[in-house]
Amino acid sequence: MSLVRRLIKISGIVQGVGMRPTIYRYALEWNLSGFVANTAQGVVIEVEGGQFEVDAFFEKIKTSPPPIARIERLTQQDIPIKNDRDVFRIDMSRGSGEKLTEISPDIATCKDCQNDINDPKNRRFQYAFTNCTNCGPRFTIIHDRPYDRPLTSMKHFKMCKECAEEYHDPCDRRFHAQPNACPVCGPKLYIIAKMNESCEMPLEYTVNELKKGGIAAIKGLGGFNIACDPLNPATVERLRKIKRRKNKSFALMMRDIELVRAHCEVSTEEEIALKSSISPIVLLKKIHGNSFQNISPDNNYLGVMLPYTPLHHLLLSKTNVLVMTSANKVDEPIAINDQEVKKLLEDKIVDFALSHDREIVHRADDSIVQFLREKMQVIRRSRGFVPTPFYVENLENGSVLSLGANMKNTFAIRKDENIYLSQHIGELIDYRNYDFQKNEILDFKTLLDISPKNISADAHPGYENYNSSNQLVYHHHAHMLSVMGEHNLLGKNVLGVICDGTGYGSDGKIWGFEFLSAGKDYRHFERVAHLRYFPLPGGEMAIKEIDRISFALSRDIENDFSNMGHDRRKMLETVIKNGVNTPLTSSLGRLFDGVAALIGIVSLADYEARAAILLQKYAENFKGKTEGYIPHVIDEDTPMIIDFAPLIGEIILDLGSGVSKEEMAMKFHLWVVDVIGCVVDKISPEYVVFSGGCFQNSHLCILLMDFLDKTGMTYYFNQNIPINDAGVAFGQAMI
Ligand code: ZN
Ligand code: ZN
Ligand code: FE
Repeated sequence: MSLVRRLIKISGIVQGVGMRPTIYRYALEWNLSGFVANTAQGVVIEVEGGQFEVDAFFEKIKTSPPPIARIERLTQQDIPIKNDRDVFRIDMSRGSGEKLTEISPDIATCKDCQNDINDPKNRRFQYAFTNCTNCGPRFTIIHDRPYDRPLTSMKHFKMCKECAEEYHDPCDRRFHAQPNACPVCGPKLYIIAKMNESCEMPLEYTVNELKKGGIAAIKGLGGFNIACDPLNPATVERLRKIKRRKNKSFALMMRDIELVRAHCEVSTEEEIALKSSISPIVLLKKIHGNSFQNISPDNNYLGVMLPYTPLHHLLLSKTNVLVMTSANKVDEPIAINDQEVKKLLEDKIVDFALSHDREIVHRADDSIVQFLREKMQVIRRSRGFVPTPFYVENLENGSVLSLGANMKNTFAIRKDENIYLSQHIGELIDYRNYDFQKNEILDFKTLLDISPKNISADAHPGYENYNSSNQLVYHHHAHMLSVMGEHNLLGKNVLGVICDGTGYGSDGKIWGFEFLSAGKDYRHFERVAHLRYFPLPGGEMAIKEIDRISFALSRDIENDFSNMGHDRRKMLETVIKNGVNTPLTSSLGRLFDGVAALIGIVSLADYEARAAILLQKYAENFKGKTEGYIPHVIDEDTPMIIDFAPLIGEIILDLGSGVSKEEMAMKFHLWVVDVIGCVVDKISPEYVVFSGGCFQNSHLCILLMDFLDKTGMTYYFNQNIPINDAGVAFGQAMI
């Protein structure tokens, strides 16, 4: 038999995902000798054996890699024979060389590990830190690469004899599972309470306290969650008070998919997402009359996730369903250590904490997704997704650090054609979030072994990041680029339709309903249409007191403003006339606010986008047929102007003739779709891309998709990159 020897290289997400044991098994299967090793560039294999066997081995890697691996490049090359028959070795990691191998995101507990913790005969019965090569913490425990125990927060735990045996046995499910642990040698749970009493059974204590109406901080993968019983109205009310969230939704964690189905509609795609290794919060339509109205009072959806750590499985098997919201104070980062959680305890935000001694290295909130028909749309991209990079075709070489937007901040690092988008950082208001951002930027630079000289940021002169950058990118251009990059449309003739809240425009005004056109040179854009400017009396104040906006929109039109006091009207008129703190805006988000207030749905938005969320709910609740308000696009000049005055006029007429709020909300949604259709028709581009925070409104997206599907237009939304401001850093990194 003639022998061949082959060098095979694999890169992508190939470490910490069970690649080497899989390779080992395949090599035994085909009777090959050689070795497999983790290097900083990826996995390197040398195999020797018969030509047929070596080919079959390579095919097998290609077609059946470990389920959670993501192979980006797979190459093979024949090399001289070494005659090392009969041995196949697994080499220890080699730490040198350029770090190209991707770090795996955290992975939800696999079925096998769930079985282990539920089996009274298993030595990991009820053990909260059970994991294996197919599941467990990854990104959140990694200090540096290569991914090996000494460079993770597991370095403090010395494996016991049994764990070490598993770790070194290539045929074991825990072979080189870096966080491998058991009750003898691994991390332990404990309770932090005000009384400082010692607690023998932390899990049981937690379950009991939760059942009694307690509010707990529970340490998860990327941070603490605040948990409580959602079926206890008094507790939920208390949580709303202390978190200062009067109306905003909370996410729930439910025991299993059957329980989810009892409360929500679940499509096939949604079920796949819920059960995936990412295990995100999925926004699901509530079944009419379900028991969680007080959890998401403002909308028809419920954010639900399944247990994703052994600790969650153990807790939920005894509680069935828990509120699970990020443990932080407003505008602060999620708490990750005991010191931070003790502050929450002192401030009476939680009653006690269930903590453990495995350190969290990287903060990562729970991710959030929703589905537009069968298409996934990421709303918050964090735990489970990060730090998997995106590959963008036709992007020129270069390295860039981009600092993102001020709201829903993320940053990004580009290494040639790969863009690494950071986890959710949050609102850059509090200094702690700036610190969080700064620290993660340093860590990403270390992990990626890169220090970009080019720094791009939002063109808003009021943002702190503005000063530390050498490349400014307009907010809506960045939104547009984020879709183009995601769907590989660079160099194409693209119309970007950006429906957004706030973004600094090239004329110094606040943009937000923008039609931007780009051709071969994606670095530049032309503004081809936008919403007519209107004043925002009081600036930031108008985003909360949204009746200010309805007043500004309709003051040219005959309207009695019957529900607004005389003094307030006079004050607003003066503010607008004098232009004091009254910027001009073309924002669709603000138009949503103004329309919601005008219709009489809400006049105070106590959290971001509340008016739009309510308007969506009313539109969804409209049963029947109606037509949208008539769009008015003035195309005498470039940019074309979308006039809102006729829209406001029609709404005021409807108000007078007793049309239901639901129908008016629906007619407004249809107006937005028709306006977009009208402008797209006039421009007739090759491709249309959609981005901006307003498209978190799934009702608007689906109406728009229905409309566009009929026209045969080729269009794209952001799907894997957040469509809101968390995607802005991605677009910035492309410049
Ligand atoms: Zn597992
Ligand atoms: Zn052990
Ligand atoms: Fe935006």
